[in-house]
Amino acid sequence: MAKIGIIGGGIAGLSAAYDLSRDGTHQVTLFESSGRLGGKILTHSIDGMIVEGGPDSIFTSKPWAVQLMTELGLESDFEEPIGGGFSVMTNGKLHAVPRALAGLIPTASTALESVGFLSAAARKRITSEHTVKKGSGEDESVASFFRRRFGKHFSKTLAEPLLAGIHAGDAEKLSMKALYPTYIGLEQKHGSLSGAVSSPSATPAGHAPKKAGFLTLRGGLAELVTALVQKLDSVDIRLSCSPKVLLQTETGIKIQISDSDSIEVDAVILAVPAYASAKLLSSIRQDASILLSGIRHASTAVATVAFRASAFHRPLSGNGFLVPADEDSDVTGCTYSSLKWAGRAPQETILIRAFMGRDGGLNIDTLSDDEILTRAESSLRRLLDAHEAPIMSRVDRWSNAMPQYELGHLELMDKIESQLEGLPIQLAGTSYRGTGVPDCIRQGREAAERFKGL
Ligand SMILES: Cc1cc2nc3c(=O)[nH]c(=O)nc-3n(C[C@H](O)[C@H](O)[C@H](O)COP(=O)(O)OP(=O)(O)OC[C@H]3O[C@@H](n4cnc5c(N)ncnc54)[C@H](O)[C@@H]3O)c2cc1C
Repeated sequence: MAKIGIIGGGIAGLSAAYDLSRDGTHQVTLFESSGRLGGKILTHSIDGMIVEGGPDSIFTSKPWAVQLMTELGLESDFEEPIGGGFSVMTNGKLHAVPRALAGLIPTASTALESVGFLSAAARKRITSEHTVKKGSGEDESVASFFRRRFGKHFSKTLAEPLLAGIHAGDAEKLSMKALYPTYIGLEQKHGSLSGAVSSPSATPAGHAPKKAGFLTLRGGLAELVTALVQKLDSVDIRLSCSPKVLLQTETGIKIQISDSDSIEVDAVILAVPAYASAKLLSSIRQDASILLSGIRHASTAVATVAFRASAFHRPLSGNGFLVPADEDSDVTGCTYSSLKWAGRAPQETILIRAFMGRDGGLNIDTLSDDEILTRAESSLRRLLDAHEAPIMSRVDRWSNAMPQYELGHLELMDKIESQLEGLPIQLAGTSYRGTGVPDCIRQGREAAERFKGL
C-alpha cells in the first residue's frame, strides 16, 4: 500500500485526503499544525447567528466546489444569495452600483446616465472602450488593465476594489494573467470587452451571470469540512502537529516531525501556504524553497458585527459595499450577511461582515482585536447611519493569509514546479494556482490524482 503524507488540513489538503483514501490502496497521514481542520473555512454559531470567520461563499463558475459538495450529498443545503447589488464608497459616501456595471463590462451607455459617482468625462471614456487598441496579451496589473480599457476613474472606483479587494491586494501589483485571465482572453479574441459581451461565447468570470454566480451552504461553509472529515475514517489525522522538514530517502520522503520523530512515505502533498512549503522544502530543493518564500501574503481581518434592525435610520441597500484604496477608510469592504443569505440571523437582527487590512494599506497585525473592532464599529455606524451600539461583535484575524499573485506569478509557479519535477512532492492550495475555495479543491484533487498510480 502506497504511503502518502499530506501536510495541511485546509480544504486543499482535505480534498486530497478524500480522494486518496477512498480506493483503499493508499495509507494517508494528514498533518495539521492547529487543533482543528478546515483552515480558513471557519463557521461560528453565535446566539442563533451563523457567522463566517473566513470565506462565506463559492464561485459557481469554477465548478470544483459545487462538484465536491454534490458528491458529498450537500446539494439540498445549497443557498443562493437572496438580495443583490452593492454600493461603492466615493468621497466617504456610499453610492449604489447599477447592475450594468456590476460585471465590470458596462453594457449600455444608457445604464451609465444615472450613475452619480462617475463624471460625464468618465462615462464617455467607459463607453468608448471598444475604440481602445487591443493590448499585447502579456501579463499586466489589474489596475493597468482596467485603466487602459475603461479609464482611470472606472478602474479606481470599481474594478480595483472589486478585483483586488477579494485578495486584500494592491491592484497595481496583482497579476491579471494569474487572477483574471478570462478578461485578457476576451480582449484578445474580440478586440474589446464591450464588443465581447455581445458574443454568446463570452462568459467572463464575475460578469453578471443570469443564474447566481455564488452559493453557500445553509449552515455555513464549515458543513463542507464536516462532510469531508466524515469520509476520512481511514486517514491518520494528526492535529497540532507541524512537521519541520522533508528529507529525501532512497525510496521516498522522510517527514521529520521533531528531532526524535519522523515517518517515511512514498509521496507528499504540501497543502500549506507557500512560506510553510518553503521551510519544509529547504533541505530537499533550496532553489524552490527560495522562490516559494518570495510569494508574499497579506494579512486581513473580518470584523463581524450584529445590530438590531431598529438601529438604522434607513434600511440598508444591496448586499454590501466596496471601498476604493484611495478612500480614507479602515474598512476595505463589507457584506450584509443577513441580507445576502437567508437564515443567518434571527429576525430583526442585521449581521454585517467588515473586512479590514490590505497589502500596502492598514496593517492589522499591529492592532489588537479591540482596536480592530472599535475601528470597524465606528466606520459602520458612521457610514450606515446606525444610532445604537452593536449587540454582538467578534473578530477573526488572518495573518499572512491572502497570497499576492504578483506579475509573473504563473511563470514563477512553472519554475518552482519544474524544480520539484522528479520528486514525489506536489503543491496544492491558495498560494499556488488559484486562490479561492474552488481552486484549492481542484489543486488538492489534482495532486491526489498524480499519486493515484503509486
Ligand atoms: C477572510 C477571508 C475570506 C475569504 N473569502 C472567500 C470566499 O468567499 N470564497 C472563496 O472561494 N475563498 C475565499 N477566501 C479564500 C479561501 O478561504 C482560501 O483560498 C482557502 O480556504 C484556502 O485553503 P487551503 O487549504 O489552500 O489553505 P488553508 O485553509 O490556509 O489551509 C492550510 C492549513 O495548513 C495548516 N498548516 C500551515 N503550516 C503547516 C505546517 N507546517 N504543518 C502542518 N499544517 C500546517 C494551517 O493551519 C491550515 O489549516 C477567503 C479567505 C479569507 C482569509
